[in-house]
Amino acid sequence: MASEQETIRRRMLELLDRAGNGVCADCGAPGPEWASFTLGVFVCQSCSGIHRNIPQISRVKSIFLDPWENSEVEFMASTGNSAAKAKYEQKVPAFYYCPTHTDCQLLREQWIRARYERNEFIYVERQEPYSAGYREGFLWKRGRDNGQFLSRKFILSEREGALKYFNKHDAREPKASMKIQTINATFQPTKIGNPHGLQITYLKDNSTRNIFVYHEDGKEMVDWFNAIRAARFHYLQVAFPGAHDVDLVSKLTRNYIKEGYMEKTGPKHTEGFKKRWFTLDDRRLMYFKDPLDAYARGEVFIGSKESGYTVLPGLPSSTQGYHWQFGITIVTPDRKFLFACETEEEQKEWIAVFQGVVNRPMLPQEYAVEAHFKHKP
Ligand SMILES: [Zn+2]
Repeated sequence: MASEQETIRRRMLELLDRAGNGVCADCGAPGPEWASFTLGVFVCQSCSGIHRNIPQISRVKSIFLDPWENSEVEFMASTGNSAAKAKYEQKVPAFYYCPTHTDCQLLREQWIRARYERNEFIYVERQEPYSAGYREGFLWKRGRDNGQFLSRKFILSEREGALKYFNKHDAREPKASMKIQTINATFQPTKIGNPHGLQITYLKDNSTRNIFVYHEDGKEMVDWFNAIRAARFHYLQVAFPGAHDVDLVSKLTRNYIKEGYMEKTGPKHTEGFKKRWFTLDDRRLMYFKDPLDAYARGEVFIGSKESGYTVLPGLPSSTQGYHWQFGITIVTPDRKFLFACETEEEQKEWIAVFQGVVNRPMLPQEYAVEAHFKHKP
């Protein structure tokens, strides 16, 4: 006869097969191995660690390794991931960023706290920090040239269509005014060296500018991020009337396709190879001397194969000078761009992502960006 624990264990395994329970309730990672027996959700190991930091709300156990009480299993049976979603995600705004298992710790932790601890999506009045269309406060901003973080006042105003920051506390004129239309925001904790580090990029005169900010409080930083997304959403709703919300939501913020060091040479291919930090943002391949530079040194537009763009492994046989071993050639209608990677793995990854961009047909508005690049000196 099966022992009581075996019966309980079998019952738990049956629950895992129910709709919704096969993926982590918080980040969607497949095959959850942990469960919160106070919230009634099945979660992955990584999210279970976050739950442990909120013991007043959530208590977790291993599904397979910890002993379970009958009453706990029955509670899990009466709730589960789908029921929890219906309860805690009643009123998630369309623009609100819902993280996946590949997102940084901050986004996943704040998502868990917003739902279960602060109940932000049950009580809409708690969404005011990112839903009001106006937000101001201080953020630590990395100095453009010295790399030192200084406290700066930021104002996000949907009415003005801009995010501004001020250098002096009593300054009337902002140091910079970034149009919401051109803003992108992406969490970059590793690159910035702060777990709450957010990179904000914007276009000025069609050149990309970067600023790097953080707030000590994780909630504040994620509120800023979602306030920027809300502002972008409302801007796009006006700019593209009749567009479906789902189509707009995918355009609110972009993660970079790939970042890392490669070597590059100039247009004559005789200038010698220089190591640069590359960022592939949609069809723009930007390069920087340092990952935290304020401006891109240059950009390469990558169109589609139909418009004359090709990605090839290796370098032309005439290539001179010392360079990393693993070459990549991007052929554009105007010229060839030569890059060199340190390892074969890096070369393969870059080629795969370039290929992905080249295989994608161009959108009408992307031709305008391409035209700009062609006329760039
Ligand atoms: Zn998870």
